[in-house]
Amino acid sequence: MSNQALIEDHVGEVLQRLSMLAGNRLVRVMAVTKGRSRQEALWAVAAGCQLVGENRVQEAESKWREQKPPVPLHGIGHLQTNKVKYGIQLFDAVDSLDSERLADAINQRSEQTFSVMVEVNIAGEMTKSGLTPAAVRDFVRQGYRWPHLKINGLMTVLPARRENSVEEGRIIRSYMQDMVDLWRMCREEEFPWAPLDDLSMGMSGDWEWAVEKGATVIRLGTRIFGPRLRA
Ligand SMILES: *Cc1c(COP(=O)(O)O)cnc(C)c1O
Repeated sequence: MSNQALIEDHVGEVLQRLSMLAGNRLVRVMAVTKGRSRQEALWAVAAGCQLVGENRVQEAESKWREQKPPVPLHGIGHLQTNKVKYGIQLFDAVDSLDSERLADAINQRSEQTFSVMVEVNIAGEMTKSGLTPAAVRDFVRQGYRWPHLKINGLMTVLPARRENSVEEGRIIRSYMQDMVDLWRMCREEEFPWAPLDDLSMGMSGDWEWAVEKGATVIRLGTRIFGPRLRA
């Protein structure tokens, strides 16, 4: 089978399963295209992915500078403040806002409203960026300080599945539930700068659980494109 046909098949399978899991709720599929070619990404979009996510500004630039994808392009990797200038030119949104410093930088560089999601390190992993769950509500409350930012959601990268045990599944789903609770709590405050419409959680290994829990965006790389040859 050609690469294009494989990608189409994979996206088709996901969308079909998604329609069963999500019912009437709208859940968007982000094609995570790090390490993939522009062409592969475009096939995934043509097959039905509503968003494209890139981890690194430099890679995203080489892929999308000349022509952007036909759907919104989101930055989903840790963004260094010295890359903000290029990042906000290229990305339609940054879903990996993980510090006040970065919020200051994006706010300062943006001329219009720029859409962000707050990244949460829900399991408190040393290797991951993101705010601690305890810091999220205060951060969102502070949003008035960044008049050019619109806080559109919360995003998280859950612990990776290693063993497929029942216990591991239970733990991951409980972190997902913590994210849902945190998201609800922040939304209840109804800050005008923080509509928080989206909860971006779930990747190739756990996206079905994430949809069951209430994610509105899932981010899929391997499930769509196959195993990564390089990180
Ligand atoms: C790579 C990546 C994904 C996709 O991971 P897969 O397991 O390949 O689906 C999603 N979100 C972020 C932030 C990533 O870096």
